[in-house]
Amino acid sequence: MAEVLVYVDHVDGAVRKPTLELLTLARRIGEPVAVALGAGAADTAAVLAEHGAVKVLTADAPEFAEYLVVPKVDALQAAYDAVSPAAVLVPSSAEGKEIAARLAVRIGSGIITDAVDLEAGEEGPVATQSAFAASFTTKSRVSKGTPVITVKPNSAPVEAAPTAGAVEALAVTFGALATGTKVVSRTPRESTGRPELTEAAIVVSGGRGVNGAENFHIVEELADSLGAAVGASRAAVDAGWYPHTNQVGQTGKSVSPQLYIATGISGAIQHRAGMQTSKTIVAINKDAEAPIFDLVDYGVVGDLFQVVPQLTQEIKAR
Ligand code: FAD
Repeated sequence: MAEVLVYVDHVDGAVRKPTLELLTLARRIGEPVAVALGAGAADTAAVLAEHGAVKVLTADAPEFAEYLVVPKVDALQAAYDAVSPAAVLVPSSAEGKEIAARLAVRIGSGIITDAVDLEAGEEGPVATQSAFAASFTTKSRVSKGTPVITVKPNSAPVEAAPTAGAVEALAVTFGALATGTKVVSRTPRESTGRPELTEAAIVVSGGRGVNGAENFHIVEELADSLGAAVGASRAAVDAGWYPHTNQVGQTGKSVSPQLYIATGISGAIQHRAGMQTSKTIVAINKDAEAPIFDLVDYGVVGDLFQVVPQLTQEIKAR
């Protein structure tokens, strides 16, 4: 069976969920060979093997931390040269897309970005992309070279598929470009203690109906009662009520949790683009005609300032 390279997104050895989703997709088209780089790379091996990686190639060097993406591209190219894979899959983060694009140029291959699904095809993997705020889906395949494909978070389930998962050290020679751009400083974001928006199983979002930053605690309290992440519509973000990092939608993040609760959000197409693949959707809106109700599994027509605190109280009481 053909091998498929999977670029591993991890933080000090803790593998992030989008990589585990990539392993699910990689197994549809071949045998996943994971590439983990930087501090803690070797610590990723066990969880990657539990999710189907037949081999984990690891490399650590100061260059991965000190410089921007090029050392990682050098390493991924070394893995590509060693494995000659049938495809290379990379998470669709900002960094992932840059790494994938640079690799594709170097190896003279076509690239597909922001895929939301992947299947085996007779002439190579077929990627599904979502277009025009999820109004259309397109299917495409790379017709030149080895397909390099970036995949959006929450595009596939995380599946256990235990393998023996051999671990091998990857020999990397850094090119002259590797040290061209240096990391000057890192400022960790203050932790809210809530799950990462794109990885959360439950997301509670607030929109213009929340009517001010000072009221967002209502949304946060419901989120905390459920162990959820907090999202926001663009209207709430543009008004300065909540950070842009929490925006859900076409120009924000795409989420696909088990449960999405929209409070005071009308359901504009650009918002739907970022949440309509959620498994169960609940909306609380005082306008029974709000378009969000066309999309929901459960809808509550009511004032969020009454409904949400009651809901939070009820959940906390259980
Ligand atoms: P509104 O549309 O104003 O809706 C507010 C809702 O709250 C209403 O339905 C109202 O009935 C309800 N409400 C008010 N008070 C209460 C109350 N007390 N209790 C209960 N309900 C109440 N939007 C995004 O969200 N994400 C994006 O990424 C995004 N990208 C965009 C990109 C482009 C190019 C463009 C043009 C637009 C984009 N938008 C995006 C904006 C989008 O078109 C909408 O303007 C936006 O989603 C509206 O946000 P909202 O639903 O919070 O506000």
